[in-house]
Formats: sequence, structure tokens, C-alpha cells
Amino acid sequence: MEILHVSAECYPVAKVGGLADVVGALPKYQHDEGHVAKVVMPAYRNKFLSENSFELVHQAGMWLGHDWYHFNVLKETENVLGFDLYLVDIPGLLDKEGVYGHYNDTERFLGFQVAVCDWVNEWQHQPDVMHCHDHHTGMIPFLLKYGYKYSRLATTPTVLTIHNAQYQGQFGWDKLYLLPSFDLWKVGMLDWNGAINPLAAAIKCAWRVTTVSPSYMQELLSNANGLEALLNYEVGKTSGILNGIDTKVWDPSSDPMLDVNYTATTVEKGKKETKLRLCEKFNLDPALPLIIFIGRLVDDKGADLLPEIIGRSLHETGNKVSFLVLGSGDKHIEWRLEQTRNFAPSGLALYIGYNEALAHQLYAGADFLLMPSRVEPCGLNQMYALRYGTIPMVRVTGGLKDTVIDYGDKGGFGIRFVHASIWDTCHAVRRALELFENRTTFNRIRKTILKLDHSWNKSAQEYIDLYTSLKS
Ligand code: ADP
Repeated sequence: MEILHVSAECYPVAKVGGLADVVGALPKYQHDEGHVAKVVMPAYRNKFLSENSFELVHQAGMWLGHDWYHFNVLKETENVLGFDLYLVDIPGLLDKEGVYGHYNDTERFLGFQVAVCDWVNEWQHQPDVMHCHDHHTGMIPFLLKYGYKYSRLATTPTVLTIHNAQYQGQFGWDKLYLLPSFDLWKVGMLDWNGAINPLAAAIKCAWRVTTVSPSYMQELLSNANGLEALLNYEVGKTSGILNGIDTKVWDPSSDPMLDVNYTATTVEKGKKETKLRLCEKFNLDPALPLIIFIGRLVDDKGADLLPEIIGRSLHETGNKVSFLVLGSGDKHIEWRLEQTRNFAPSGLALYIGYNEALAHQLYAGADFLLMPSRVEPCGLNQMYALRYGTIPMVRVTGGLKDTVIDYGDKGGFGIRFVHASIWDTCHAVRRALELFENRTTFNRIRKTILKLDHSWNKSAQEYIDLYTSLKS
């Protein structure tokens, strides 16, 4: 089977969050299962582009409204990712380093999608499925179905995976002229709440819609940032497939980003050594339980609660825990965290920014990972933490609900709490301290979680089954 994944991110080419990890891993597993899995994404002007070799496989031009753009499709030649990688280069439009946050993101991603459709339209054959990820690729199912120039692709099955329904990419009707001509009777397919909404259009037009965990799918039916009614209407074609993790990249026994590697038998020594190094670097007491937070500093992740959670927990436990926060995002949250750190420098260390290697070291060196998320479609951090023997403390929502069992329950290994509130999270911190002090249980849990299997094997097959069901 030939699968073409279309995405704005793919690890290690360009990563902002979990989307990249998924698109960097799922095709690899599909490829290993004997399928032809390809990824096409924008050619950002980044390190990956300059450090790898590419061949030009397609050259063409396209109209985006009144503007004409030349574009190239480049293929990575050394198969460094373990599957075929194609980059769409559009000089004058898609030639910046950053992934998101440009003033013309609507035009950039529309241009990318039109170029992808134009390119696939030129293939001698059709892919068995086009798998679109998030709203940046959400116009593709619509264009293939109703765009006049893509009529030969109208029977190509499309799958949309919603990695996060909070972001929908809406833009005004004044930009309708940017789209290639399509059957105007179908213009309503683009509409949601008076705007062109790429995520809504994809939910309407894709053959199947998946989300990244079964619980998130259920939650979206009552809370999808305005798309609840649409998802309820289309529920028959939706399903939740839990993300996996790339256990080859995330492996404490061989991770090149760690100074000390370890296995289930050497976990205590390996984690202790890594924690010592971290505590030395960040000036924390290694005798105390180390609780980390890694992620975007935004309200959805519960990051706005962190300053109070940290302040109150230090007070309640008599400074018997330490926190390390790695992330960036909302400037006000960053500022409040800095204030908390200045107030309690021995209890909180901060790294404001993005640092992949440090993230690996934190998963390895920490005792607990805190995720007080309000919204967590799947969440990969808790699975990375488990893989590295770090106990997750999670608010039960989305994928966190599907992947973490409380250690008080049968077969449990983590700490769960119900509300994304300061009260509930501080209670979880007190439970973490209690668990840390009970060394026998703590060490037993550590050994258990290292052996849990969160690899893509099962979920990659679920996607294959889904694609197969679309073949007539
Ligand atoms: P998101 O909603 O951001 O996609 P996920 O849990 O799905 O959340 O994925 C987050 C990914 O991004 C993980 O691989 C995590 O380690 C990584 N990450 C997030 N913030 C940072 C950061 N500041 N530095 C390094 N890695 C980060």
C-alpha cells in the first residue's frame, strides 16, 4: 500500500510539538511493515535542509490568487529518516526558517497544499491514501473532491488526523480567490461560523477522520473549540487511534543525547547519575524528588497554574521537592515563572526556550513528570517519561486518561488527578513525595514502567486497517 502523509512538521526535519514526533515515526513503522510510506512537507530554510542532500523530482508553477509562484519538489536522497521524504520549496512564500507565526501563514500553507495537489496530480498513478495532518493540510480533501483540475484524484481516499482541534486555521472569505477553481455549489463545505475553516472543511470532506486518542475523540463531541456539532454530525466516520512513540529514537539504553545510558537492570544507577548532573547544572538538591514539566507554556497545558502549584507545594512540603521547568510560550507565564524562581531559587529551576537534548536528559534524570493539562489530545511526554523510568503525574484528560493508570489502582504506575486546578495538582505533588519516600514501591514502579510498550506497532497497524477499509 502507498501512503502519502502531508504535514507541516516532521521530526527531525522541523519540530514544534508532538505532530512532528508522530509524522516522523508512524511512516517509519508503516515502511517496516512493508508499505510505501512517504512524507511531504514544506522546505523550511532550516538546518536539516542545508545539512542533507536532495534531488529535484518535480518543478512547476502555480497561481495563488493573482500571484504566480514557481515551486520545486525535492526528495531526500540518503533515506536518513527511514522513509521517503519530499520537501516542497516555494521561493517567495515558503522560504523562511520558522514553521508557524508568519504574517502570511494562510497563504504559505495554502500555497503548500496547492503545490502538493498539483504535484500528485502529475503522478502516473495515484497513492492508495493521502493522510492529512491537522488544519495546515485540511484543504486537501476538499480540493481533491471539488477542485476542477484535480478531477482524476477525486477517487483518492483521504484521511484527516486531528492532532489538536484548538487550532483550525480559519481565514476570511475575502481570501477565497486564493483557491484554485472548484465547483462553487460546494462552497458551503469550506464554511464554519462565517469563515473559511480548513479543519472543518477537512472533517466534512475527508473519507475518514481520526484523533490521536480514543478519549480525545469522545471529548471532542462535547468540546471541540466550536466544532462539536460538526463532529457529532460526522461521528460515523471518526475514530480515535492512540499515538505511539518512536522507541528507536527514545531509548534510554542507546540515546546519544544522554551522558549515561541505562536499561531496566541499571535504571537506578543511570537515573541517579543523570539526576546528579542535572541538579549540579541547575543548582538543585539531588536528595529531593525532582518533578519536571516540559512543553509549551500555554493555558491548554495548565502552564498558567505552575507558578502557584510550585509556590504552594514548596510551602506545604517544607521545601521537600524540587521543580525543573523546560518550555516557552506565553510571555506572561514565562515572566510569572521567573518571578517564582527568583522567590524560591532552590526549589525551582527554569529553562525558557526549546532544547531537544535537554528534554531527553530531563526525562532520564527526573523522578516525576507533571502534566496538569486542560487539553491533551494524546500527549507524548508521559510516554517518553515512562520509557525513561520517570513516573507521570497527569490530569485525566484525552490521551493522558488512556495511557496512565494510578498507582493506587490494579496494575497502576502513575499519579492521576481529576481537575486542572492548583488544589488537585498540589495534592498530586504530596502523593509524589509520599511515593518517593517509600523506596520499595518507588523502585518497583520504576522498573515496571521501563518495560511498558508504547511503541507504534499496534497503532500503525490500526491505521493500515483503516486505509484498507477505504479500498473499494
Ligand atoms: P504538543 O501539544 O506540544 O504537540 P505533545 O505532548 O504531543 O504536545 O508533544 C510535545 C513534544 O515536544 C515532546 O516531544 C516534548 O518533549 C517536546 N517539547 C515541548 N516543548 C519542548 C521544549 N521547550 N524543549 C524541548 N522539547 C520540547
